[in-house]
Amino acid sequence: MPVKNRFAELQDEITAWRRDLHENPEILFETHRTSAIVAEKLEAFGCDEVVTGIGRTGVVGVIKGKTTGSGKVIGLRADMDALPIHEQTGLDYASKTDGAMHACGHDGHTAMLLGAAKYLSETRNFDGTVVVIFQPAEEGGGGGKEMCDDGMMERWGIQEVYGMHNWPGKPVGSFAIRSGPFFAATDQFDIHFEGKGGHAAKPHETIDTTVMGAQAVTALQTIASRNADPIDQVVVSVTSFETSSKAFNVIPQKVHLKGTVRTLSPEMRDLAEGRIKGICDGIAATFGGTVEVIYHRGYPVMVNSDEQTDFAVDVAKAVSGDCEEAPLVMGGEDFAFMLEERPGAYILVGNGDTAMVHHPEYNFNDEAIPAGCSWWAEIVEQRMPAA
Ligand SMILES: [Zn+2]
Ligand SMILES: [Zn+2]
Repeated sequence: MPVKNRFAELQDEITAWRRDLHENPEILFETHRTSAIVAEKLEAFGCDEVVTGIGRTGVVGVIKGKTTGSGKVIGLRADMDALPIHEQTGLDYASKTDGAMHACGHDGHTAMLLGAAKYLSETRNFDGTVVVIFQPAEEGGGGGKEMCDDGMMERWGIQEVYGMHNWPGKPVGSFAIRSGPFFAATDQFDIHFEGKGGHAAKPHETIDTTVMGAQAVTALQTIASRNADPIDQVVVSVTSFETSSKAFNVIPQKVHLKGTVRTLSPEMRDLAEGRIKGICDGIAATFGGTVEVIYHRGYPVMVNSDEQTDFAVDVAKAVSGDCEEAPLVMGGEDFAFMLEERPGAYILVGNGDTAMVHHPEYNFNDEAIPAGCSWWAEIVEQRMPAA
């Protein structure tokens, strides 16, 4: 069974929605126009319930099947937010907002889930309930977490959840997925060393924070090379090294390091946090300064459930003929919070030979729409077959 004919018919209409969203990108929780369009369309499709303001600017739509005797409720989730990037695609529908761009394809995700919602509202060829979830602030704002914190899963009795992301470099409309840990936990740290500033020609009268900071940058690399089991993955990157002096002849009183940690298991996450604090405490003690380490936990590891992943693979094969095993991704994904609350699966759909996501020349590939929409619809119709 290839893509559904109905989505071939709807492709031009869904493409027009996508390009309108592309032209009007909104960042983080500021998806006011996008959310309003989504809610308006869901109402027009005849959804049984449309609720705005879940997770600030998130939108939820409910579509009941011809029957609901199975008692099953499936959540399908798309993200709506753009990135603070200056678009350089030269498209005739390029961003009209300077410094904002749909550079991750969330315009395509929103349009595809709207397309699926339109089809499912028309046909209702399933026994159960579909909850379509449109979240703001995937790009670092935790919009998915806020929707969960607003009680979304309980309010609509969602039992399992599915998500999808386009993937440049994969043939357009093909699928890839993996079971278990898939996207990394994304944490941040701030390290503040304090010593005793002074004249650079009199180092013996100072406690040099640049030496402490430099030791820390090097020593933090031993978390990956000496503390982590070599078969596990961990990334520790120091990305900023700022001293409290800009002069050539001053030893600064303070040094501030910033960076990110990526891990794929709770154990490795705990280990990295503990070692960062231990290493920095040791360095400060060794050189006679003090240190404060602030470790901020961001998105958790995104873990696909085995059963739902196997099912997602079967559906992807039915739509596209094949489904590859995806590699591990050390980037983060806000859908992790929904997968912490309910079993489910997150799949990649090929975007063809385009620039990578988050690049100013990236664009979502509208040719992926029939496959993406078909996967959504088949998830519903096969998981909750019509009575
Ligand atoms: Zn992104
Ligand atoms: Zn994205």
